[in-house]
Amino acid sequence: MKTLNDFNFKDKKALIRVDFNVPLDENFNVTDATRIVSAKPTIIKVLEDGGSCILMSHLGRPKGVQDEFSLKHIVAKVSEVLGIEVKFVSECVGAKAEAAAADLQPGEVLLLENLRFRAEETAGDKDFAGQLAKLGDIYVNDAFGTAHRAHASTTIVAQFFPEDKCFGSLLAQEIESIDKVMKTGEKPVLAILGGAKVSSKITIIENILDKVDHLIIGGGMAFTFVKAQGGKIGNSICEDDKMDLALDILKQAKEKNVQVHIPVDTIAADAFSNDANTQEVDIDAIPDGWEGVDAGPKSRKQFHDVVMQCKTILWNGPLGVFEMESFAQGTIELGNSIAEATRNGAFSLVGGGDSVAAVKQFGFEDKVSYVSTGGGAMLESLEGIVLPGIAAIQE
Ligand code: AMP
Repeated sequence: MKTLNDFNFKDKKALIRVDFNVPLDENFNVTDATRIVSAKPTIIKVLEDGGSCILMSHLGRPKGVQDEFSLKHIVAKVSEVLGIEVKFVSECVGAKAEAAAADLQPGEVLLLENLRFRAEETAGDKDFAGQLAKLGDIYVNDAFGTAHRAHASTTIVAQFFPEDKCFGSLLAQEIESIDKVMKTGEKPVLAILGGAKVSSKITIIENILDKVDHLIIGGGMAFTFVKAQGGKIGNSICEDDKMDLALDILKQAKEKNVQVHIPVDTIAADAFSNDANTQEVDIDAIPDGWEGVDAGPKSRKQFHDVVMQCKTILWNGPLGVFEMESFAQGTIELGNSIAEATRNGAFSLVGGGDSVAAVKQFGFEDKVSYVSTGGGAMLESLEGIVLPGIAAIQE
């Protein structure tokens, strides 16, 4: 795996794909700079070596050139985060971009205009990738959030740098963290899969059964497993057409010696509302008209005990409808258990969509080993897919 440390960037122009797809408010202020902060170590390494940085990113999903998606809006924030004045060019390829790149001096940073102003970016167009490649001497991919896309700037451009290409430090950390769970993790290895739907996690479950010793199935997903085994789940969410699959997963798990933990009780609500009446019930005896919305106290204790036994922990998906305060307790307690296990020396990786939101909302970010920055990219990695943006650097 080629990383930044394999290169000395002195007098070199690093063409860096970053993920600056940050949220903006109605006045175009950046409301969450996490992604910019995450790219800082890579940029600083290049500058400290005596090189310069040409940053390229997408922002949103523009249809052609649309001012509200211009990366000019984030120049001030990027400058603030890096502590230097960042230059901006209103094109990402062509004469203007080439002139701006040529003018760049060691220690300077240039931000290109939104790559997705050009349809060739998402089309993975080779000529366009070649025009991007002209701008720099070394290609660095530090955008995990788009590593699952074979776009011009994330994948195709790497062909123009047969030797001079590497992962940035953020992307390298993402790869190492996933490898720690999927390949090199200390046993026992635990995966916790929650969230709403079995169908969106099925490929992950099937892939992960070969890697883990324990599997917790929580959240709304658990009810398909409970019903498939003959339980009464009231109005809880369920994918009836996935019940056979659920039984098959349980069979496969047994054959592979994976211990599966399904909640034993739930907080049942009489409406999908924060103010609903609630009661604690066994997971397989939910009264008609009631639905399971959070892990019950016995399940929380059960999951805590499993978490504390494990040395490597992957968490994807909440244990309940955590967006509603009344149903967030199971997810919060699981976060606390993972934080405690991490303090005791376990490696914990949180990733993919809503679990990252939950971790941030409840302040666990600094209490787990690593929080992934890529939603779809993380899920595809867990499915066992080699991401095109990663393969392009390794080729
Ligand atoms: P996912 O994107 O598949 O990880 O699903 C995340 C969503 O699952 C969150 O919006 C949660 O509110 C939802 N969720 C978790 N548990 C339940 C449940 N018991 N009933 C309904 N939705 C749930």
